[in-house]
Amino acid sequence: MKYNKFQDIELSALGFGCMRFPVLEDKSIDEEQVAKMFDLAIEGGVNYFDTAWPYHEGNSEIVTGKLLKKYPRDSYYLATKFPAFQYKAGEPGNPHPSEFFEKQLEKCGVDYFDFYLCHNVSEKTIPAFEDPEIGIIPYLVEQKKLGRIKHLGFSCHAQFPNMKAFLERHPGVFEFCQIQLNYLDWTLQEAKEKYELLTELGIPVWVMEGIRGGRLAALPEALSKKLRVLRPEASDAEWAIRWVQSLPNVCVQLSGMSNIAQVEENLKTMNEGDDLTQEEFDLLLEIAESLKRSVPCTKCRYCCDGCPMELDIPALIAQYNAFLTQDDFSIRQYMDSLPEDKRPSACIGCGQCTDICPQNINVPDIMERFAAALAGEKTWEQVCKEHDADLKK
Ligand code: SF4
Ligand code: SF4
Repeated sequence: MKYNKFQDIELSALGFGCMRFPVLEDKSIDEEQVAKMFDLAIEGGVNYFDTAWPYHEGNSEIVTGKLLKKYPRDSYYLATKFPAFQYKAGEPGNPHPSEFFEKQLEKCGVDYFDFYLCHNVSEKTIPAFEDPEIGIIPYLVEQKKLGRIKHLGFSCHAQFPNMKAFLERHPGVFEFCQIQLNYLDWTLQEAKEKYELLTELGIPVWVMEGIRGGRLAALPEALSKKLRVLRPEASDAEWAIRWVQSLPNVCVQLSGMSNIAQVEENLKTMNEGDDLTQEEFDLLLEIAESLKRSVPCTKCRYCCDGCPMELDIPALIAQYNAFLTQDDFSIRQYMDSLPEDKRPSACIGCGQCTDICPQNINVPDIMERFAAALAGEKTWEQVCKEHDADLKK
């Protein structure tokens, strides 16, 4: 196992994500199977386990804590996260942060967390995290002083400018940051900008979605073939994991493993084989380009001034482009955070944007299609099909 230094400790480069455990027919966690997976991972050198309040409807924390109990407390690092999405910023009646935190210690059966994150800092949750009446961040800082949190960080799905502003408002508070990072999101979802900002600030990066929910583990055959020419034995997933490992500021790469075979494959990747060469690293970035469908918006913003609905057209098109690659949680979350009159569904189809657009982009069609997809009236496949048909016109 490769280990990365974080302050005075060594963390396994592979972290065990506890959100996709195998389940039984009644949807409860298959504890017997997870116990075997944990044993195998620990034997293979994994020492970082990442759970959270909502995983497996609240049961991941319980099972993770219970199964780790047989190992000495100082032989593994346990991470969980604060669920600010349970709060309503600016409203009375929110629970005190201690209600969740104390319960989490109890559920995991521990008296401290090695790593604790503000969960899913995003446009939707930032108001709750920063609401002085609720006081989440000061409470967590206090728990750190008391030694009940050893290291405080946050996981983030916010757009880059909002993540940057969040960090600027809380200097010196967060020691690490977990972001969605893979060779496709490097340019598709601002992962490059986020990684570079964190590196500049001296904050180590924890990675989630290194294989993008499995999408990068099963590339179209023509693309897989290009990779097999260079490494005949390597799977597509292995390429994606190695690409993330090539980034020097990445400390822990999480994998939400669901069966023994995945644990074995990840351990093999981490324990055997060579790092990617620069040529291989760049090849994956090229492959990412061919995985993308996109509308060629240059973000010139010529269309924005005249929009009667005052929509942020280039920002919505950027989300649409990400959607064309995959119907993704972050996109829907970002859309939910916008007021209804600023979403694609607010477009009235006047067409002034298209008239002025130097790229001749048919914005009203895009807004209509995107709005239908977000409302569940069109599937991702239908949207892609229509998009591809447009290109042929
Ligand atoms: S077509 Fe839609 S996006 Fe374009 S200017 Fe009119 S309202 Fe705004
Ligand atoms: S005018 Fe066209 S290219 Fe420029 S921001 Fe608007 S849609 Fe994008």
